[in-house]
Amino acid sequence: MNEYIASVSERLGKLYPNEPEYLQSVRAWLEMIEPAVDKPVYERLDVLSRMVEPERMFSFLVPWQDDEGKTHTNHGYRVQFSSTIGPYKGGLRFHPSVTASVVKFLGFEQTYKNALTGLPIGGAAGGSDFDPRGRSAREVMRFCQSFMFNLYRYIGADTDVPAGDIGVGVREIGYLYGAYKRVTGRAESGALTGKGLTYGGSKIRQDAAGFGTVYFLARMLEHQGESIEGKKIAVSGFGNMSLGVCRKAAELGGKVVTLSGPDGYVFDPEGVATQEKFDFVRDMRASGLDKVAAYAEKFGVEYHAGKKPWEVPVDIAIPCATENEIQTEDAVLLLANGVRYYVEAANMPATAEALKLLRLSPKILTAGAKAAGSGGVAVSALEMVQNSLRYSWSRQEVDEKLRGIMSSIYDASAAAAEEYGLGYDLIAGNDIAAFKKISEAMIAQGL
Ligand code: GLU
Repeated sequence: MNEYIASVSERLGKLYPNEPEYLQSVRAWLEMIEPAVDKPVYERLDVLSRMVEPERMFSFLVPWQDDEGKTHTNHGYRVQFSSTIGPYKGGLRFHPSVTASVVKFLGFEQTYKNALTGLPIGGAAGGSDFDPRGRSAREVMRFCQSFMFNLYRYIGADTDVPAGDIGVGVREIGYLYGAYKRVTGRAESGALTGKGLTYGGSKIRQDAAGFGTVYFLARMLEHQGESIEGKKIAVSGFGNMSLGVCRKAAELGGKVVTLSGPDGYVFDPEGVATQEKFDFVRDMRASGLDKVAAYAEKFGVEYHAGKKPWEVPVDIAIPCATENEIQTEDAVLLLANGVRYYVEAANMPATAEALKLLRLSPKILTAGAKAAGSGGVAVSALEMVQNSLRYSWSRQEVDEKLRGIMSSIYDASAAAAEEYGLGYDLIAGNDIAAFKKISEAMIAQGL
């Protein structure tokens, strides 16, 4: 490994020994961009150290009262990772697993995910260790209000624009936006994205991450002279991202045959492909129980308790759940079952070892979340554009723009891999293209 890269990696390890997710995501990236760190200017201006750590981050207490009148105290975080190419931009995650390390890794990934959307957005992430499971709507509202009373002074349409992630959907964004508006006294719709359609949200936003992944996948299939028609797809999770993949795949003639939750997975050989099934999955998610078993009962299909969907032989695997859900043994299963495409929708869904196995195998084509998973934030950026225009595009207009954005991310990734002699390595190509764009902007702006 190039000495400069090795020293940056070692320094981070010493500074943050207890932040495994963050170190994992930065180190994977450093490995990918190595061929492009080929000029002395990067070390002279210490570009890498400035790219791998957040510009600013903070945490705050979020006290709130439950329906019985008992007070709970959670932790809130916001990592303003990079403003090099635009205002900080990224989601909020409400989940008990949220730590400083998790938000830092999300903010890091977000920066490089956002860079190739073609829209001027920097990178950020945030959230809380609050567990929304089993909480009433009123409890969630009170939590969101307390969270925003702390966060509001640090965000805004031109500074930092939060959106959703795990545990934060259109309902939570509504409560957060309502609190923001009340405390600032401004109807500043561009301060948050993922809003409801009646108050400045963009059409397609909820399905955008999943749609984007399928558009990206379509370009990979096309490269192989294939199409999505008739393909079987394994998907994990059952939230917006999974549902977006189901809908767009069904529209293009593909079939999503699995969905999963923390309880296990369901196998539907007919595909999650009808409006009735989409509605059922949406309601199952909204119930707040975080279980997928009810789908099997309702539609009379197999349910595998405690198992992951990667054991089902399919053509394409699309992880849509959470980080490190694909371990070495899952990667081995995917390869043994002859899966030919592995396309990440969720952030860092595979462990370093599992991803290496998949990426280096000639039997499977791989695409990373920073490329294939960027449809959600791309439509968030389109939401910001519509808010600043005080205008709203039609579904077809947004969908068409999203398809164009995903296609140009694919082209940029394939071209960068080609330029550095890496063949068809879309993961390295994407990381390199984003690195080059951000480093150029950083150097141009001086210290
Ligand atoms: N968490 C989402 C993502 O990974 C949302 C980011 C946004 O829309 O700002 O892209």
